[in-house]
Amino acid sequence: MGQEGKSEVSEDTERFDAIIVGAGLAGCTAAYLLAEKGLEVVVIERGSFAGSKNMTGGRLYGHSLEKVIPGFAERAPVERRVSKERISLLTEDSGFTIDFTSESLKDPSRASYTVLRSKFDSWYAEQAESNGAMFIYDICVDDLIVREGKVCGVIAGEDEMEADVVLLADGAVSLLAQRIGMRPAPTPQATAVGAKEVISLDERTVTDRFGLASGEGCAWMFDGYVTDGHIGGGFLYTNEDSVSLGVVTTIGDVDHSATTVPEMLRRLEGHPLVAPLLEGGKVIEYTGRLILEGGFDALPKLLDDGVLLLGDSAGFGINVGYAVRGMDLAIESGRLAAETVCDAKRAGDFSAASLASYRSRLEGSFILKDMRFYRKFPSFMEGTRNMFTSYPEMVEEIMMGMFTVDGSDPVRLKTKVKGAIGKVGLWNLAMDVKHGMGAL
Ligand SMILES: Cc1cc2nc3c(=O)[nH]c(=O)nc-3n(C[C@H](O)[C@H](O)[C@H](O)COP(=O)(O)OP(=O)(O)OC[C@H]3O[C@@H](n4cnc5c(N)ncnc54)[C@H](O)[C@@H]3O)c2cc1C
Repeated sequence: MGQEGKSEVSEDTERFDAIIVGAGLAGCTAAYLLAEKGLEVVVIERGSFAGSKNMTGGRLYGHSLEKVIPGFAERAPVERRVSKERISLLTEDSGFTIDFTSESLKDPSRASYTVLRSKFDSWYAEQAESNGAMFIYDICVDDLIVREGKVCGVIAGEDEMEADVVLLADGAVSLLAQRIGMRPAPTPQATAVGAKEVISLDERTVTDRFGLASGEGCAWMFDGYVTDGHIGGGFLYTNEDSVSLGVVTTIGDVDHSATTVPEMLRRLEGHPLVAPLLEGGKVIEYTGRLILEGGFDALPKLLDDGVLLLGDSAGFGINVGYAVRGMDLAIESGRLAAETVCDAKRAGDFSAASLASYRSRLEGSFILKDMRFYRKFPSFMEGTRNMFTSYPEMVEEIMMGMFTVDGSDPVRLKTKVKGAIGKVGLWNLAMDVKHGMGAL
């Protein structure tokens, strides 16, 4: 453990069974379940309410929250249930889109929902509060109390609180985990930056423009032109009466890019495929945030004496281009952390050895299974620049060859396709497909 803090317990120090830092989805889940089991739990959040500082693209895969609050989507402020999936390859003035709709996407066991975190997290914190958890807002935890190598509490300004265990659910940067040496500082190549705006449109307009049924939503990912050849992409999620539009790109890449992240966002909103869908809309929110993208191989130490890392602070996230996940992992890690703390409480032992069952719970869950499964994806993206440059152009050329009728001499489709692929190189294409299949 990196840093030794105070060594004596003051009589005025407040004591809890568990202190949770961060009222995001990971923190709220742990608070909800620990309070349900009768533990005295306090959540400390630096924002003025749960969700006030939180940002996401917009799609929550519901399976993990379903285990915590069965049928949550009936009561929670979800925006729309996703029934339409789109992926587009963009050049500056073209877009090739895969559009998939299925009734099966609505099945509650595999449904996903668009969410706005300020509404959603507030609702979740209220559920935890009604179970008995205490939430304290507008307080930033500055440091941890470490005594004889064990985390015993938190320090916020002049105040100190102590607990048997501290759960760090303080998001992707997690300065606290860094302070006690559980996590290294994020490296530029393993960290992405996201920028997002929420654009208001009325409910009917969203439903009609995206060809949706009432209450249903669209999740849309974009590759190519938006990030100007850099690793990353764009996203669009339809909310009830707004659209979440954003870009994500790796910091190590954007560092030497002539195109800034806000410019990338402008490229997306101004693209001919997207611009007409946003017409008349008004930007009502603009946010930016870091995302850890190192995957399984960059996981930090997940527990130590008196402390567990949850959600983004533990580096739990998966981005495979067509699916971005972090929220379902955050919720599941909150649930598994709560189970671990309940066991430790029964045993009266919060040492690293006792809390080690958190690691085995994670190993047995979809979190580490999925992260291990997709562990090659970050290096695949790193080595497959064509995805963001030549492939969208190749697809545009093939599509133009198919759909253009202008009176010029006919050319066989196979010749056109060969010509377009020739520019990238058949061997390069075959290798990228092979590596992509291996990574997925
Ligand atoms: C651009 C972008 C798009 C994304 N898209 C998706 C998506 O579509 N689907 C998906 O599943 N995931 C997505 N993610 C990932 C997802 O948002 C995160 O994985 C998820 O929010 C993690 O939840 P968390 O509870 O671990 O952390 P957070 O939601 O970050 O919560 C951390 C909380 O801790 C608080 N905090 C931090 N430090 C302190 C401190 N010192 N003291 C007190 N409070 C503190 C913060 O204010 C915050 O409330 C996206 C992320 C980004 C950035």
